[in-house]
Amino acid sequence: MPLRRRSKIVATLGPASRDRAMVLALARAGADVFRLNFSHGSHADHAETVAAIRSAGLEIDRPLAILADLQGPKFRLGRFAEGRVELAVGDEIRLDLDMTPGTRERVGMPHPEIFQAIAPGDLILVDDGKVRLEAVTCSPQGGTFRCTQAGTLSDRKGVNVPSADLDLSPLTDKDRADLSFALEQKVDYVALSFVQRAADVAELRRLVNGRARVLAKIEKPQAVARLAEILDLCDAVMVARGDLGVEYAPEEVPIAQKQIVRAARERGIPVIVATQMLDSMMVNATPTRAEASDVANAVYEGADALMLSGETAAGAHPVASVEMMARIILRTEADPNLPFLMQAEMGTDDSRETDPIALAACQAAAAARAACLVPFTATGTSAMRLARERPVQPILALTPDPAIARRLALVWGVRARIAGDPADFEDMAARATLAATVSGAARPGDQIVIVAGVPFGTPGATNLVRLARAAPAPDGAPGPTPR
Ligand code: PEP
Repeated sequence: MPLRRRSKIVATLGPASRDRAMVLALARAGADVFRLNFSHGSHADHAETVAAIRSAGLEIDRPLAILADLQGPKFRLGRFAEGRVELAVGDEIRLDLDMTPGTRERVGMPHPEIFQAIAPGDLILVDDGKVRLEAVTCSPQGGTFRCTQAGTLSDRKGVNVPSADLDLSPLTDKDRADLSFALEQKVDYVALSFVQRAADVAELRRLVNGRARVLAKIEKPQAVARLAEILDLCDAVMVARGDLGVEYAPEEVPIAQKQIVRAARERGIPVIVATQMLDSMMVNATPTRAEASDVANAVYEGADALMLSGETAAGAHPVASVEMMARIILRTEADPNLPFLMQAEMGTDDSRETDPIALAACQAAAAARAACLVPFTATGTSAMRLARERPVQPILALTPDPAIARRLALVWGVRARIAGDPADFEDMAARATLAATVSGAARPGDQIVIVAGVPFGTPGATNLVRLARAAPAPDGAPGPTPR
């Protein structure tokens, strides 16, 4: 099944799912990437989870990627003397830097960078946007705000500031400590929350220094506005619809999702659509049909991966959620209209960047009705370039590096296997055809399309497309699975 499914599944782990047996069950159900959410859990918890994921990958003999999601700067109100206050539309309240317990007249908010950035008319959204406050007056020490959406303010509620450009480091002290722990654990991707600008990604890139791939979570309007410069610096991107949905009006989120997915696909950068995909499965055993449509629409958009958050981290049905997501993806991918619809999502701009070898390989695979594409890839790049073309054929990437195989678990249509560099042309064809049959990507006698670089073993030298016939599987090797 995993070879057949093109869009990947990211499963967030948490209290409902971090033990070994559950991680294995989630991987068997189809999870390709596991997300560790550093907003919750101790380093000891995360270390155990990493060990569980690595052992599950060995047990099912499939590369599984780990995504460490750093919390990023979270803004919160201070505390209230009575724990909470009620605000009606039109009521005014002062927010300031004084952290003595708040009242109906004022409350602390210990974030000077917010007061420095906002101007009259700017909005502050409290508790995921349930209460809206509009700045009437402001100074670097505080400001007066008028309530435009009524509700309760209570202790330590989260705050979003959608319109202001905040002058702050993208990584808090906690993020830096979590990052060095995550890198010690050899995670495959590190995600940066609340990215505002390319410099935020550059800062993380500098700290990661090639030890993992860097993913930008797009959850602020500022990041959507600066998408091109952010994508130029990151290795992967997430449409983080939870916070994006707080900072944007609901009707803006689908447009932003399409814009981000399209821009990432154009560059060949893996893109994850995240949050509330099967939200009702937190409690129910089946999703709403609207959720099934949301999953299918992300597949039609050509997203590389779809993410489960609370559904797998804290829900009542973690395995069923992954199984259901895999079923919806597979069913959507069986729609004969999918290739045209995925192509249509990219628009008609013929000037978009393509890689001539990847394009030639995909066209050759289509013309030859090949069973699969088999790139030899040292860095993963040639597999990702093939994936950018969204070919009908699965991509079986052969790499000598287990870390590259794991990173490719996030990429649309790619399954990776470990294989050494070919010694010569004959060896290349032999390794590719054997891998194709053993993995079930091709049946003996099927045509396959090999992509490689000569001289062999030279990263960045991809310059060869070759057709070959899949060899019979050797005695004792697992037989091919039906495609
Ligand atoms: C989101 O906001 O959609 C998201 C994935 O981020 P987090 O869950 O860390 O808030």
